[in-house]
Amino acid sequence: MKGRIFCLWTALLLALTGCAMTPADPDTARESIQVIAMDTAMLITTYGERSPAAAYACEDAIRELEALFSRTDPDSAVSRLNAAGSLELSEEETELAGILRQAGQYYEETGGAFDITVAPVVSAWGFTTDSFQVPAQSELDRLLPLVDGSAVTVEDRAAALGPGQSIDLGAIAKGYAAGRLCTVFNEYDVPRALADLGGNVLAWGDRPDGTPWRVGIQDPAHPDDKEALVGVLELVDAFAVTSGSYQRYFEQDGKRYHHIIDPATGKPADSGLTSVTVVAGTGAGNGAMCDAYSTALFTMGEAKALEFWRSRQNGALFSLVLVTEDGRVVVADQTGRFAFVPSEESGYVYETAS
Ligand code: ADP
Ligand code: MG
Repeated sequence: MKGRIFCLWTALLLALTGCAMTPADPDTARESIQVIAMDTAMLITTYGERSPAAAYACEDAIRELEALFSRTDPDSAVSRLNAAGSLELSEEETELAGILRQAGQYYEETGGAFDITVAPVVSAWGFTTDSFQVPAQSELDRLLPLVDGSAVTVEDRAAALGPGQSIDLGAIAKGYAAGRLCTVFNEYDVPRALADLGGNVLAWGDRPDGTPWRVGIQDPAHPDDKEALVGVLELVDAFAVTSGSYQRYFEQDGKRYHHIIDPATGKPADSGLTSVTVVAGTGAGNGAMCDAYSTALFTMGEAKALEFWRSRQNGALFSLVLVTEDGRVVVADQTGRFAFVPSEESGYVYETAS
């Protein structure tokens, strides 16, 4: 009997020391998961001893936010706000107040180029339901007065819209979610990770070999060829968000209509740009900022976008990669925190703005 206990203890001890002698290597212990949420296929790769738990905590966080922000789920906080025009926020819903405050700030900063109250117009084009159509000018004229981000009011536990208004967080929710992943990574001591939430990338730390994460910027002229890039961003501790006219569109009578709406006209922005990438560090709020700016600057066009970038006095620094319809790639960096490696074979002309 004694011998048997000894044997068991020895086995247990060996197992324990065996574990202790080969701890999970934070550089190689990794977990990759795909999450289908917010109408997007998302890919999250985490490193570190707690990488599996961290990856699934990311999924939980994204699903929680989707349950608040979705426009198609009738039970979401946003749908209930849209239906009733105002909403008391429960304890679990206070994050809606946070994103609405940020959205209000970006509405002001961009002079209305970013405007979540563009929702009725987005729906008129069929982008909410995938039943695409070109709305009549008379319908746009009827809906445009409803597009006014200044009419949204937010308190800590309540939100309200102007009469007849509704909101769409499609241009900020994924970036906001990417920002939320930073909290998860800190909580789970994740040393490095890469999350791609449908064009909203969070590069956390560096790669296991100490080099930056490499994130390709798609060539808008070849959206179906994932290998066709205008260049590669090299990123450490950064968000990079791309908005492009090639990401979601339909064609009618030989004309292409994409999903980034100019709130001034109610029509797909025709600004001479085919994609806008915004890069910033992993500071609080920057994920949502990059997402909102990428959409807003796309509608502004090259000259106004660069003017916006240059005039930035307060707030987080950010950098831009603009791709133009006439075959140029314009890089404007004020963060000093990323390198852009052009794809010379792409045929684009590369310029640096200052
Ligand atoms: P994606 O969702 O493809 O990443 P964006 O971040 O640019 O691209 O968001 C586009 C979505 O945001 C549209 O599908 C629409 O729901 C909404 N939207 C379109 N134009 C605007 C705008 N000017 N301001 C705010 N939201 C917009
Ligand atoms: Mg956006």
